[in-house]
Amino acid sequence: MTSLEMALEYIKINNVKFLRFQFVDIHGEPKNIAYPVKLGTADGEEELMGVLENGLFFDGSSIEGFVEIEDSDMVLKPDLSTLSVLPWRPSEKSVARIICDVYRKNGKPFEGDPRGCLKRVLAEFKEEFKGEYFVGPEPEFFILKNENGKWVPGDDAGYFELEPLDEGNDLRRNIVFALENLGFHVEASHHEVAPGQHEVDFKYDNAVKTADSVITFKTTIKTLAKQSGVLATFMPKPFFGMNGSGMHCNQSIWLDGKPSFYDENNAHQLSDICLSYIGGILEHTKALVSVTNPTVNSYKRLVPGYEAPVNIAWANSNRTSIIRVPAARGKGTRVEFRAPDPACNPYLAFTVMLAAGLDGVRRKLIAPEPVEKNIFAMSEAEKREANIDSVPSNLYDAIEELRQDKVLKKALGDHIFNKFIEIKTKEYDAYRTAVTDWEFNKYVRI
Ligand code: GLN
Ligand code: MG
Ligand code: MG
Ligand code: MG
Repeated sequence: MTSLEMALEYIKINNVKFLRFQFVDIHGEPKNIAYPVKLGTADGEEELMGVLENGLFFDGSSIEGFVEIEDSDMVLKPDLSTLSVLPWRPSEKSVARIICDVYRKNGKPFEGDPRGCLKRVLAEFKEEFKGEYFVGPEPEFFILKNENGKWVPGDDAGYFELEPLDEGNDLRRNIVFALENLGFHVEASHHEVAPGQHEVDFKYDNAVKTADSVITFKTTIKTLAKQSGVLATFMPKPFFGMNGSGMHCNQSIWLDGKPSFYDENNAHQLSDICLSYIGGILEHTKALVSVTNPTVNSYKRLVPGYEAPVNIAWANSNRTSIIRVPAARGKGTRVEFRAPDPACNPYLAFTVMLAAGLDGVRRKLIAPEPVEKNIFAMSEAEKREANIDSVPSNLYDAIEELRQDKVLKKALGDHIFNKFIEIKTKEYDAYRTAVTDWEFNKYVRI
């Protein structure tokens, strides 16, 4: 769908009654306003063409990270290429969603719109390097069942297991069909390491399309799970003592229309650009994680022993480092950043990941040598010797790193940068002052 006429045709053919104008807040939580299509009435078609072309006005004052009440009139301008019927809603008088960019009423893009932020950074990349940025995410999630009022893992299966141990296979099947109906190219689905944990992988694409897909993916899975009486959660570490859920991000950049990470004559068959990109990500990792791992709970996943990264290093095959370069070479050469978790706002996460990598490319940083041994098994002294640093151990420290990072500040823009720090500082404070069961049990007899 690239033209208004095609969008109208799609709406007619699919008998769309409700058109959801969708966007995300600063956390990446999807929001929408449903517009009732009135085809068949006197001015119905004209009104529909009007909202498709000019957008829908709304009041942004209650959206987290947007604007104060005095200045809250905004417009949702639909991206026609994202028009899609929602397969879990009725097929009669169906519901379609369209993903929107947020504008101020004066016609300027709203600087607090996460999708707009990513688009701005991509436009700058295109302008400076004729560049394009591709991301392939691997989101993991748990399916929980309710037992005596408590949410517990939906089964006892482990990595790649099948029925009868894997009790999520029917739901995963429905998830794959629904995603395919929504235009996804699903590559694989499987049970993950922890009980009740699953992964569904879809094909990489340009960063905006992939970020849109991550939002759609989470909505689809949570909705289908709810319909079958279970709970799908993308919480990074729901259970102590089990693997958490990550969202590894495989990234590549193309320059002048060509893949730029492969060089058969260079060390590791990686180009200087790729090594600089890795150098940039490593240099900014401590601040990056505030955005790619944005919750208090995210830092309970980033601990040794559960296949989640802790160490700021890169490797070709070692999964204990924060960056891994999978074996594929040629066009498939990619840099896997293993820190992100599926609680992140994908638009902002991709914005800062690209900004960090490009900072390395601009400054011609060269990544240090890869660390191929198991870093989890190294002592603190060995790690110091090898110059291997660790990620921040909590959200507060990560936000402090972000405050100091001028490159990420520029990429996010002042509005999102300031709001994000303000909101996350409050979130950490609420956590810091809460009294947990753990501490009550530990200290109550003092
Ligand atoms: N769950 C792991 C993480 O937190 C990844 C495990 C895997 O993909 N094998 O990153
Ligand atoms: Mg995977
Ligand atoms: Mg996995
Ligand atoms: Mg992976």
